[in-house]
Amino acid sequence: MSETRSIYFSPEHDLFRDQIRRFVIEAIRPNADAWEAAGEVPRAVFREMGALGFLGARYGEEYGGAGMDVFASIVLAEELGRAGLSGLAAGVLVHTDMASPHLARFGSSEQKARYMPAIIRGEMVTAIAVTEPGAGSDVAGLTTRAERAGNGWILNGAKTFITNGALADLYFVATRTDPEAKSSRGLSLFIVERGTPGFEVARKLDKLGWHSSDTAELRIKDCRLPADALLGEEGRGFYQIMENFQKERLVIGAMAVGEAERAIEITLEHVRTRQAFGGPLWEKQTVRQNLADCAARAAAAKQLVHHTAWLDAQGIDCVREVSMVKVHAAEMVQHVAHTCLQLHGGSGYMRGMEIERLYRDARIHSIGGGATEVMHEEIAKRL
Ligand SMILES: Cc1cc2nc3c(=O)[nH]c(=O)nc-3n(C[C@H](O)[C@H](O)[C@H](O)COP(=O)(O)OP(=O)(O)OC[C@H]3O[C@@H](n4cnc5c(N)ncnc54)[C@H](O)[C@@H]3O)c2cc1C
Repeated sequence: MSETRSIYFSPEHDLFRDQIRRFVIEAIRPNADAWEAAGEVPRAVFREMGALGFLGARYGEEYGGAGMDVFASIVLAEELGRAGLSGLAAGVLVHTDMASPHLARFGSSEQKARYMPAIIRGEMVTAIAVTEPGAGSDVAGLTTRAERAGNGWILNGAKTFITNGALADLYFVATRTDPEAKSSRGLSLFIVERGTPGFEVARKLDKLGWHSSDTAELRIKDCRLPADALLGEEGRGFYQIMENFQKERLVIGAMAVGEAERAIEITLEHVRTRQAFGGPLWEKQTVRQNLADCAARAAAAKQLVHHTAWLDAQGIDCVREVSMVKVHAAEMVQHVAHTCLQLHGGSGYMRGMEIERLYRDARIHSIGGGATEVMHEEIAKRL
C-alpha cells in the first residue's frame, strides 16, 4: 500500500520513510544473523541512526531533533518492523518512544540540556525500568524503594525484563517514594546513569525471540542519587508511566503492522516460486485466500493505528483506541506470522529463515507493554 496516498502522511513523512527503508535494506537486513547471534545490536548502529536523524524526529530542534509529529514515530516503527529483525526494532523504539520521552516530557530544562543532545545523536542509549520480579502488569504494585538520604536519595530493589538493560547509558527507574500513600500515588521516577555505584546489571536474559535486543535484570543496592536525579514531580511516577504507555502502545501497534507486512511480502515471494502439484503454490485458491485474509487483517490494524495517531495528534483522549490498537495489532501479527510460516512448509520451521524469526518475535506483542487481557480491561472500562 503506497503511503503517499494516505491522508495522514505529508511529503516530509514520506521522505523520512524512504530514508529509513533504505537504511533497513542496506544496513540492517545484511547484519540480521550476526546481531541475532551476538544477542545485541552494536552501539555504533545507534550512533549511525542518530547521525541520520532517526532518533530525534519528535524532539525539539534546540536539542538537535526535527520537531516532527506522532506520525514520525509511526513511520519509524512501521519501517523498523518491516526489517524482519524485531529485536533491533525493539531496542531502538524503546530508546526513541518508550524511555527517552519520559525525560523530554517530564525533565527539567537542566536535565534535558544535559542528556537530550546525546540521546538524539545516539551516543547515549536509554532504558525504561518499571517491571520487577513481583510486579509487571500491576505497575502500582512495584516495591523498589527510594528513600531520602541527606540532600539526595537512596534506592534499593530489583528490575527485570528491561530492554537495553545491559547496553543503556541512562535508565529511567520507577520506584516507590511513599509507602504510606495509595499504591498509585507513592511512585516516582529517577534518572540513573550507567556505572552509578549500587546499580548493576545482574544478568542478561535469554528468550524466545527478539534475540538481537538485550533484555536484562537489574540489581539496585544502596544506590545513592543526587536530589536532581528525580524525574518529574515526586509521587506522580505512576501517572507519568501511564501517560507514556499510550505512546508506547501506539508504537508497538505500528511495529506489529510493519512485521505483518514483511511476513506477507516474503511469503508472497515464496508461494509464487515454490512448485507443488504441477505449479506454484500461489495457484491454490486456499493459499491465495489465506494471504488475502492476512493482508486484510494487517490493513485494518494499520488504519486503526493511523486513525488513533491522528486522534492523539488532535489532543483527543484516545486511551480506548490505543488499547484497541495494542490488542488488535498484537493478535493480528501473531495470526499473520503463524499463517505465513505455515505457507513456508518445513523450510519456515528452520533456523535462519526470516519467517521463523518473525514468528518467534511476534509472540511478545500480546504480553509486553500491556498484556491483551489488561488492554481488554481498559477498553471495557470505556465502553
Ligand atoms: C522481551 C521483553 C522486554 C520487556 N521490556 C521491558 C522494559 O523495557 N521495561 C519494563 O519495565 N518492562 C519490560 N518488559 C516487561 C513487560 O512489560 C511485562 O512482562 C508485562 O507488563 C507483563 O508483566 P508480567 O510479565 O509480570 O506478567 P504478569 O503481570 O504476571 O501477568 C501474566 C499474565 O497474566 C495475565 N494477566 C495479567 N493481568 C491480568 C488482568 N488484569 N486480567 C486478566 N489477565 C491478566 C496475562 O495473560 C499476562 O500475560 C519486557 C518484557 C519482555 C518479555
